[in-house]
Amino acid sequence: MSGNSVINITLAGETDWPGFRKEARALLAKLIAPVGVAWHTPASSTADLFSDLDVSPTSPVTSAHAHGPINLVVPSSFVTLCETVILHNDPARFGLLYRLLWRLVHEPALRNDPLDADRVKAQHMAQSVRRDMHKMKAFVRFRTIEREEGKPPLHVAWFEPDNHIVEAVAPFFMRRFTQMEWAILTPERSVHWNGERLHFGPGGEPRDAPAPDAGEALWLTYYANIFNPARLKMAMMKKEMPVKYWHNLPEAELISGLAADAMARSGHMVEAAPTQPARRIVPVARVAAPTAPTAPHRGVAGAEDVVRGLFMEPIAADNPVQALAILKEATDRCRECPIGKHATQSVFGEGPVHAALMVVGEQPGDQEDLHGRPFVGPAGRLFDQALAQLGWPREQLYVTNAVKHFKFELRGKRRIHQTPTQREAAACLRWLESEIEQVQPRALIALGATAARALLGRPVAVTRERGQWHEDARGRKVLVTLHPSALLRSDPSEHEQAYKAWLDDLALASEWLKHAV
Ligand code: SF4
Repeated sequence: MSGNSVINITLAGETDWPGFRKEARALLAKLIAPVGVAWHTPASSTADLFSDLDVSPTSPVTSAHAHGPINLVVPSSFVTLCETVILHNDPARFGLLYRLLWRLVHEPALRNDPLDADRVKAQHMAQSVRRDMHKMKAFVRFRTIEREEGKPPLHVAWFEPDNHIVEAVAPFFMRRFTQMEWAILTPERSVHWNGERLHFGPGGEPRDAPAPDAGEALWLTYYANIFNPARLKMAMMKKEMPVKYWHNLPEAELISGLAADAMARSGHMVEAAPTQPARRIVPVARVAAPTAPTAPHRGVAGAEDVVRGLFMEPIAADNPVQALAILKEATDRCRECPIGKHATQSVFGEGPVHAALMVVGEQPGDQEDLHGRPFVGPAGRLFDQALAQLGWPREQLYVTNAVKHFKFELRGKRRIHQTPTQREAAACLRWLESEIEQVQPRALIALGATAARALLGRPVAVTRERGQWHEDARGRKVLVTLHPSALLRSDPSEHEQAYKAWLDDLALASEWLKHAV
């Protein structure tokens, strides 16, 4: 380089980390100072930029084009910082990162100066990107598009991130919603998961996303009922859920109305005499033992009826027991998949809120459907027998199912269990997730493939993966084992051995619980 000439570098796209790394190595090797480099990106790029990303924990920066002997090893933390900062929307980020790299080579003392202005600026950018990624994971709301016969529904969300984070966050949604086909549209990029791979494309517009659906109405009902006026801290709420995201959040349309009523409602809660709230349904955690089959299936109320009915009752919305009861009510009326309309009632979980261990089965069976309680049929009795042998009091466990309604086919007068499809289990996942959110167990046990898939967000080969702790996308511990009904179906000659192996699997949770207290 001579005089005041500037080298212009154009990267392949906004998040071209491999390209940036290659160019920075070459520039460093030629001893070209940061002031002599101008970084650019095309106005838009649709390339799959991360497809060949390969970053080692410490990255030797060397170049075949080196004019002098350069063999730089940068701290792995710097590589991590670069990978995050490069997602920021500030066009100056590439210049900043190259300047930091240059200074790491030429100013060794920089590594020991956390207050250096360039380092601080890069850290702020990384923090802003991480916050943006967190908000995207928290505030994406899918809406469902029904498609032609034979095609699964497509779940589409609109989101407006501040930074170039779509490629970086997409794998989170892929793991989280493996069974669903979904797309997330943003102004700059879009991503589509077809059940097998992620496809990235150009951005879209808000009108490309579908209108609210029935499932969303139920979600609004739930949100309205867990809203606690006595705990309303508007500034904190806006910090956690910034106003700029509200127009894409269905629940946001409720906030102003609920907040406006909050003072009056919380005043009423304080002044009200201590009475037992009149509940429309019995809290599931304290439900009495069944005495007789329940009444046949009743008609479906509209979501508006649910909202009105529940709003008229005293609400202690910070009470997880009540929140779970509201969820049960919502699942009872849910018709997001075809199973709901044939079952007698939904069968929600039961057990103490904040139980350390949550056990998740597949779906209610014939007896559960009639009694409205999980694990009370033949498989439930085997489960109870195992609990007795393990010394686990059932009343200390929270027991539920991945799918809340009983799926069956009629053979004569008998209702024969049918395994829910992936699509049905995926439709029901939001209820299970909401249930887990209220109970917040320390660990979960997945009984069978449907439960394991729902909890781990991927297909699970139960016979191969049983008897081991796994982690879900949120870092929760999940033990996988067989569903007790699989034991009931096993060859009688193998039953004893299969039962013993199943107990051994379950006993792992016993050990973990002992150490987790
Ligand atoms: Fe809704 Fe789940 Fe019942 Fe399907 S099984 S209707 S998703 S509650």
